[in-house]
Amino acid sequence: MKPLFALIIVLFVCLTSFAQKPRIIILATGGTIAGEGASADRAAYTAGKVPIKSLLAAVPGIEKIADITGEQIANVGSQDMTIEIWMKLNKRINEIFTNNEAEGIVITHGTDTQEETAYFLNLTVRHDKPVVLTGSMRPSTAISADGPKNLYDAVTVAASPKSNGRGVLVVFNESIFDGRDVVKGNTTKVDAFSSPNLGPLGQVYDGKVIYYLNAVRAANKATPFDIKGLTTLPKVGIAYMDADADGGVVAHFVKEGYKGIIIAGVGNGNFNKAFYDAIDAAVKKGVIVVRSSHVGSGRVTLYDEVDDKTLGTLVSDDLNPQKARLLLMLGLTQTSNKDILQSYFFKY
Ligand code: ASP
Repeated sequence: MKPLFALIIVLFVCLTSFAQKPRIIILATGGTIAGEGASADRAAYTAGKVPIKSLLAAVPGIEKIADITGEQIANVGSQDMTIEIWMKLNKRINEIFTNNEAEGIVITHGTDTQEETAYFLNLTVRHDKPVVLTGSMRPSTAISADGPKNLYDAVTVAASPKSNGRGVLVVFNESIFDGRDVVKGNTTKVDAFSSPNLGPLGQVYDGKVIYYLNAVRAANKATPFDIKGLTTLPKVGIAYMDADADGGVVAHFVKEGYKGIIIAGVGNGNFNKAFYDAIDAAVKKGVIVVRSSHVGSGRVTLYDEVDDKTLGTLVSDDLNPQKARLLLMLGLTQTSNKDILQSYFFKY
């Protein structure tokens, strides 16, 4: 009798655990997905108005995928994203996974700086469980608002065990991107996100998640960047170089005490003589200067047209200027040794 009783208990536990839905916590930060306008077109809306509760109410069937709870971390247009909000997000994510509060996290976020938040979190969150960002191009009050579908898809991806160990992800318009390579590549279209160097990692379609690629660097959780206890990060500025630019912006950053400068150069991180002289002066003052590019895809390579050894510059590899800035800000919390900083750009 006893073994039969034990078998029944085991079967009961198995069945109930199979029936259990994954727990997903949505951390809302604002953006157009929470935007509200007076009319059904997109004109004159304000980002970051609608609370997470109302966003969820607009997604029929989402409760069938997961047990969802929402928390409002901020409610801003992502042009107003700050290091302080990033720190808050990082802290809450680490807390959720350390305390086993959820199987996955979705972050609703404006699209303007979503690629930056995704990479920042990718560099600073140590857990392997899914963290998925999403947003929308049309406000919640617009015709064919894309937010509800993106939110549904993001929850589907975050609830899938297939998403474990892939780093921070961005889900948009049925594509799954890795948070390191993803960029906002269009100012207004619904299909605004792309991954210029890799392509999407996978797709979410009809409620099913499928992966084609594994982004090795994005999935590397062994980063040295522990921001616990920090309230801010070293200042790093981006200097945009175009034809006949003067080097004034570089000199300005040096004067203002910036610890690092990212050059949004032309081509393979190139610049003219005026920039060269300003960079030379910056490096001689101990400022870390990293060559990146505003081309939009591809790598910036050492010792090509620029003699990095003589000038004392580093390169961003395939990180665009805004992502290179994040890595340098975090890198400078660890070291100002140029070899180590350069190794970060080849690793993370
Ligand atoms: N400016 C908005 C934001 O980034 C745009 C959007 O979400 O699509 O918050």
